[in-house]
Amino acid sequence: MIETQTKTNIKDYVAQATAANGQVRALAVTATGIVEEIRQRLDMWPVATAALGRTMAAAAMLGAMQKGSERVTIQIIGDGPLEQIVADADGEGNLRGYVQNPHVDVPNSKQGKLNVKTALGEGHLWVIRDLGLGEPYRGGVPLVSGEIGEDFASYFARSEQTPSVVALGVLVGVDLSVRAAGGLILQLLPGATEGIAIMLEHMVRSLPPISSLIDAGSTPEDIIEQAIGELQPKYLHQLPLRFKCSCSRTRCESALIALGTEELDELIKEQGEAELTCRFCKERYTFTREELEALKTQIQAKRCKSQVKGDKD
Ligand SMILES: [Zn+2]
Repeated sequence: MIETQTKTNIKDYVAQATAANGQVRALAVTATGIVEEIRQRLDMWPVATAALGRTMAAAAMLGAMQKGSERVTIQIIGDGPLEQIVADADGEGNLRGYVQNPHVDVPNSKQGKLNVKTALGEGHLWVIRDLGLGEPYRGGVPLVSGEIGEDFASYFARSEQTPSVVALGVLVGVDLSVRAAGGLILQLLPGATEGIAIMLEHMVRSLPPISSLIDAGSTPEDIIEQAIGELQPKYLHQLPLRFKCSCSRTRCESALIALGTEELDELIKEQGEAELTCRFCKERYTFTREELEALKTQIQAKRCKSQVKGDKD
């Protein structure tokens, strides 16, 4: 299991608050350290860093809405060169994510910004919530903007019937490292008045970009104050974040066993060994010829056992 405190020593966390006497829920996150760690692990180029960083910020906040080990997975699939983004989070602040093609380069937008929309193209955003009760809940929407923030807002409105404002931002430095990454989600809770909805919209419009707030040193609470300070937010607990990947040698063994004896035989014949690389953390797991042979024996032993059991039945 790969688990690290963020290398850059930046305190990444999610802050949560309710405001306007329970009519509004607010979450804000700083994720600069974790997004920089993932950039280094996956060797991402800037537009991939921006796209995955925004998705990680949203995933961290969605994770904070879950309880304990309940997991949420975000999957964005587009017809652009990035192809796919995946982010995993849980209610304990564990995060991991990857982008299918980290080495994507597209021209900047007319405003000189990293063009996430073009890199993603047309597609869908999926949210998979695993509450540990069997079949996970899966909801999705078509991408409406491709800049990710608005796409999450569309998801909350259409799939969860919760009117929301979602602002996500990543600032990439000239040396390609992550200078700032984070986000803000504001949601209208049941019973919210029309007046509060209008106030929220107005407040958000005058909010500076999230990435520039974080770059200037704002904490998640500072971001919530800047956005909706007038609505007297009451803060709940903070959720510290860390990069954690659940890959392991045992999981790789299971994946190899699932291939079956014939495919394993082919692997042994053609390559002599197997090397599996985790898409999330880039950890490499190698299996020698002898180890692959041992896995084959395991499959055969299992098969015999189930046959004997079958005979008895
Ligand atoms: Zn891994």
